[in-house]
Amino acid sequence: MRVFTASLATETNTFAPLYVDRSAFESAFYCPPGTHPDTPTLCSAPIVAARRRAASEGYDLVEGTATWAEPAGLVSRDGYESLRDEILGQLRAALPVDIVLLGLHGAMVAQGYDDCEGDLIARARALAGPDCVIGVELDMHCHLSAEMVQGADIIVAFKEFPHTDFLARAEDLLELCLRAARGEVKPVSAVFDCRGLAAFMTSREPGRSFVDRIKAMEGRDGILSISVAHGFQAADVADVGTKVLVIADGDRDKAAVLAKKLGLEILGWGQGASPKHYKPEEGIAAALALAEAGRPVILADRWDNPGGGVAGDSSVMVEALLRHPDIPAAIGALWDPIAVSLCRAAGVGAEIPLRFAGKAAPSSGRPIDAVVQVIGTATDLLIPFEQSWVSLGPAAAIRIGKLDIVLASTRAQTFSPPVFTDLGIDLAAQTLVVVKSSNHFHAAFAPIAASVLYLDSGGPYPPDASKIPYTKVKRPFSPLDPNPWL
Ligand SMILES: [Zn+2]
Repeated sequence: MRVFTASLATETNTFAPLYVDRSAFESAFYCPPGTHPDTPTLCSAPIVAARRRAASEGYDLVEGTATWAEPAGLVSRDGYESLRDEILGQLRAALPVDIVLLGLHGAMVAQGYDDCEGDLIARARALAGPDCVIGVELDMHCHLSAEMVQGADIIVAFKEFPHTDFLARAEDLLELCLRAARGEVKPVSAVFDCRGLAAFMTSREPGRSFVDRIKAMEGRDGILSISVAHGFQAADVADVGTKVLVIADGDRDKAAVLAKKLGLEILGWGQGASPKHYKPEEGIAAALALAEAGRPVILADRWDNPGGGVAGDSSVMVEALLRHPDIPAAIGALWDPIAVSLCRAAGVGAEIPLRFAGKAAPSSGRPIDAVVQVIGTATDLLIPFEQSWVSLGPAAAIRIGKLDIVLASTRAQTFSPPVFTDLGIDLAAQTLVVVKSSNHFHAAFAPIAASVLYLDSGGPYPPDASKIPYTKVKRPFSPLDPNPWL
């Protein structure tokens, strides 16, 4: 048996003024064939999963390119086409193959391509032929298009948000593809379109028990796999929205019935699936009421999360914390490569006048001018996220009174405490810790937190879908229209 695997991924916020070209992939994560590290990244886990089982299963593995760009705005046509054609050229050279395994995101939009993954899968199918098993792993924040489902035999999306399961789902995908290639199962897919946005977190109810329940359904009664594509609302594309994908063994009607049942259950939660979002001052007051000695309250600045395609340099929460100089607090990581270079040149211990944050867009707030003390620097701030390692590039920690601030050169979200602790910031000594992350922080920060709260500090990500200027979405679509299923 021969298996080909590759990965091409980013998440495109079509409203973000941060443009992406090939160099954004090359500088974030770019591994030509055979150079992928032993550990997976968020979207390249199929490569690692396939490597680990090649010897025991006895298949020949051909690795193509694996690449990722940090979520941002529209991808250039040249950038997408050159990376797509690089991978398709590698597939062509590897033919014939029995399985194609792709690690994609599912929400990549390029100039002229609203559905990059649907395009890539269709071209891979045209090359590999109808008998090849094509398996795709997607981030749950994808636009699950009909083209993707038609082109692939098996699609498996992450189930967990925070995404703690990208390697586990890649292993599920590989197992199903191997069984399909051996003729042991006949995967058939059905999709239920929720006709709206119904995302949820699995770090809280009702999402937590729902995902435990769908996991228990897999592998029983002819159900091979269940994925909920939550969707990614910051994209003006026709396929935006929440969808449920069920793959059954040969029985499409059974898959369709279950997909609809699960989709209606999710829709029934309404707003109850989302946590409360506090405005900055309200969030600080709520957090102070929950504070415990030695355990900070974590405040997530959800809508300035680089993982959602925005800059991650909003100063709104820095200004809010500076209005409370008596509160020991930390905030990070803010994207500001210029400020980092000035701090690193001045050195640890230096006191310097610094302008930082609030630069990338009008919605990033105003830049902050202050005399700061440089308390820590790093040549490359490398932090763990589940089985992967994420680089924030050269970084610096600065102090203004009781407020410690982490600045980083590479846009990446605050996945885990080493963003602070590797720069010498003691989190147990803080009352409040503000993280630039939507929910991936939760897995690593919740164990050290007195409590976790979510902030709405005003952007720049568009959190209220009813106010997003969509032009392409298929109507009816809630919350723009009443949901036709309810
Ligand atoms: Zn995601």
